[in-house]
Amino acid sequence: MSDNFPTIAKPSVSNMPIPPNLSDYEKTRKDFDWFKDGFSKLDWLPDGGLNNAYESVDRHVKNGKGNYNALIWIGKNGEEETYTYSEFKEESDKFGQVMKNLGMKRGDRVFIFMDRIPELYFAAMGILKAGGVIAPLFSAFGPDPVRDRMEDAGASFLITTPELKAKINSILPKIQTLQKVIVINKLNRSEIEPDNLTLSYDDLMKSIDPNSFVLEPTTQYDFSIMHYTSGSTGKPKGVLHRHQAVIQQWLTGKWALDLKEQDIYFCTADPGWVTGTSYGMMAPWTNCVTQIIYEGGFSATSWYDIIQKYGVTVWYTAPTAIRLLMRAGESVVTKYDLTSLRFIGSVGEPLNPEAVVWGNRNYKMPIHDNWWQTETGAIMCANYQVTDIRPGSMGKPFPGITMGILDEEYNEKKSGESGILAVRPGWPSQMFAYWQQDEMYNSRFKKGWYITGDQASVDKDGYFWFQGRADDVINTAGHLVGPFEVESALIEHPAVAEAGVIGKPDPIAMEVVKAFVTLNTDHQPSDQLRRELIRFAREKLSAGVAPREIDFIDIMPKTRSGKIMRRLLKARELGLPEGDTSTLEDD
Ligand code: ATP
Ligand code: MG
Repeated sequence: MSDNFPTIAKPSVSNMPIPPNLSDYEKTRKDFDWFKDGFSKLDWLPDGGLNNAYESVDRHVKNGKGNYNALIWIGKNGEEETYTYSEFKEESDKFGQVMKNLGMKRGDRVFIFMDRIPELYFAAMGILKAGGVIAPLFSAFGPDPVRDRMEDAGASFLITTPELKAKINSILPKIQTLQKVIVINKLNRSEIEPDNLTLSYDDLMKSIDPNSFVLEPTTQYDFSIMHYTSGSTGKPKGVLHRHQAVIQQWLTGKWALDLKEQDIYFCTADPGWVTGTSYGMMAPWTNCVTQIIYEGGFSATSWYDIIQKYGVTVWYTAPTAIRLLMRAGESVVTKYDLTSLRFIGSVGEPLNPEAVVWGNRNYKMPIHDNWWQTETGAIMCANYQVTDIRPGSMGKPFPGITMGILDEEYNEKKSGESGILAVRPGWPSQMFAYWQQDEMYNSRFKKGWYITGDQASVDKDGYFWFQGRADDVINTAGHLVGPFEVESALIEHPAVAEAGVIGKPDPIAMEVVKAFVTLNTDHQPSDQLRRELIRFAREKLSAGVAPREIDFIDIMPKTRSGKIMRRLLKARELGLPEGDTSTLEDD
């Protein structure tokens, strides 16, 4: 814990203008039961089945909320379209029927490769309703990463747009399992080039009677989504989830993001990674919110414009974006009226304490960090609307989740000590498999724990503190140093925009701490600044933990989901092969 950043106390529930859904964390956690609080609260199918898309869309129509807005789309050219839950149901039912007509079978993997347009969501929900498994990909991928993943998964269908299909045309005939490619030509932005694999979404949809569709009676154990991980630590793994994940996605949406019916919710994640499906589809729609879908990428002014114009109440984003917003500056924030906001959440990487405090000053509320993984399918540890925030901590386990800190023998450690972050298996949104990698899957379970691959500690009050990925933790002169701590100290310096820290092999100390930093626009690299940063870090940290070396770089290597790729910094530093770079962001 950092003494520089005192606890941010929350007002008592009776003093909150809108009472939070989770009003007493400790009591709820004590009395919690997944059946009572989770499984029994959704509608389920008449025959006892469970379908993620039914719970997200159809049940609101059945329950008289069909006229609520489900999504407001803001296109990259300023277009706007709004769809109610009834319209969403109709479009997704029609697409479900299209897929059944094309012969898609239960469990078939259907890849979705497109930008964030409404049809992406109609297709995703339609596929789930018809029993298929959705596999979304970042639209920025080139042909090779798309081919790798589709071949690995044995893809049956691909849903895409004309522009993106043109980018990967050369690889499509090589994918043996691929039956058809469905192309969505949104607003006639482009031309569909005919070939024997390709079908037009519009042509397929226009002849369908939405009332003809019969939802596939999936069970909670049927597969629903396959997501490839971000590739921060190595080759991405195909993580397979089941329909029952919806229980935890719904409940974490309600308690960890405080989502309420008709909230205006803005999740900035792309469905190409798990936040963009669990919290860009399931959690918001099962909670019956109006979701803003913004096709464009990061832009401080566009995002603030959206929050102001649509009156966004809940905003879920990522540390990389928050650091960019900080870089854009306080003077930009003050130009906008952001008072509609009630809750801000962050995930994907550690959220530097500086960012939490910056948010508190500029948005008049702290940013709530929460922790989870592709493998966990939903939020596992969070800062809640009702709990005090210790900046730099990822908060406390979600009710029903048991987390522990283990030693190398996988035995639990005492509070305060750092070690392997682990979770007791059996949570509803737990992955079912790494696709065709049983050995790797099995290696993640030890002595009754799921091993997350991260290092952390827990304090005596139950707050968890992330230190780094197990692979990234640095062993220097007998100390274990988490890169996050060093990076957070460096970005407190006004010159530093972002920092990535690695352990560099050293004959004496085993490893020394080396930092790579990008600078804010009004600062230039110099030896003097380098010395100043080292001195600054030594004051904040101990001399043994502060970086010994600092390099200035123009671009921080990151995944497309915005995570710093420390393994790449290290490989480049040591002149080693870069490994799988399919998820590397290219600016
Ligand atoms: P790969 O598994 O392919 O190396 P990845 O682990 O980055 O990639 P994801 O499943 O997208 O793939 O990310 C989960 C990881 O992101 C976590 O294990 C953790 O390292 C990091 N992470 C997510 N949220 C947080 C957070 N709030 N604080 C710290 N780290 C986080
Ligand atoms: Mg991982």
